[in-house]
Amino acid sequence: AKSAGGNRFQLADPEADARAITRHGLTTALPAALERGEFFIEYQPLVHLGDGSVHGAEALVRWCHPQHGVLGPDQFIPLAEHTGLIVPLGRWVLGEAVRQARYWQERHSDGGPLRINVNLSPTQLHHPGLVADTVDVLERSGLEPGALCLEVTESALIGADEDLLKPLRQLAEMGVDIALDDFGTGYSNLANLRRLPVSVLKLDRSFTQGMQRHPADPVDLKIVEGIVSLAHSLQLAVTVEGVETGAQAEQLRELGCDTAQGWYYARPGPPDKLHALSLADAV
Ligand code: C2E
Ligand code: CA
Ligand code: CA
Ligand code: CA
Repeated sequence: AKSAGGNRFQLADPEADARAITRHGLTTALPAALERGEFFIEYQPLVHLGDGSVHGAEALVRWCHPQHGVLGPDQFIPLAEHTGLIVPLGRWVLGEAVRQARYWQERHSDGGPLRINVNLSPTQLHHPGLVADTVDVLERSGLEPGALCLEVTESALIGADEDLLKPLRQLAEMGVDIALDDFGTGYSNLANLRRLPVSVLKLDRSFTQGMQRHPADPVDLKIVEGIVSLAHSLQLAVTVEGVETGAQAEQLRELGCDTAQGWYYARPGPPDKLHALSLADAV
């Protein structure tokens, strides 16, 4: 071990330092990465549980970092949130995803309108330009608002006041669907759902995971059944995420869920892959 340099340096946790440097490095690299076009989007299909047909796709952003390779959103979205870069990055994702959805629709007119889901983070929700940016993106692309679904996490809306809900309400009035993402993880008051301008509940992956066990925990099943019936009585559609097996899909279909997403159907992938999939099922 090195003895020079003073003891104070030996107190540092080298791993924490590496993490901090990476975090710092990534954070400072974010703006240039956006300018250089290092972000790209993968699409994961959403499937009707009834007949397995493709309902739409969720846009999931990735960063092709010149040194670190492909980074997942969990590695940089929190940093982008923290620095505010999430606003231009989110605007880019929205524009790109909506353009892609319009492209699919034009080439897939017989398969019904393909829908596109885009994640919104809390900072975007608070940003005053959200409604105008969304309107602008839709108008430029020619995509009808009804084909867009914005996913907002349940936790971002807990305790939300009218000021926060107003832009979502405006978007919903235009016909944009709002989905409550990661539902079931945020301890929100179910009765509260009535005052939120949402039309879709996305059941968190933890519920699907709970069904992995054989036999599935009967309490888990009861909970999902209860959520689905409550959602349907409020005219909300239910999407489940993280479906990895056919048995899960079957169970969730029986429980009345409407659409599903997960590796069982397809991993997130480049736009061409989804195009091929939805064309195949239109036959
Ligand atoms: P999310 O919105 O809950 O997205 C679902 C995540 O589950 C995705 O991870 C997806 O790849 C993964 N997944 C899908 N099917 C399965 C499955 O069957 N099994 C398992 N184990 N995982 C599955 P990903 O792509 O790493 O995204 C992570 C999170 O990053 C997303 O969670 C979302 O909250 C956030 N995110 C992604 N793209 C964006 C974006 O453009 N903007 C914002 N604000 N957040 C984004
Ligand atoms: Ca999502
Ligand atoms: Ca989710
Ligand atoms: Ca999640």
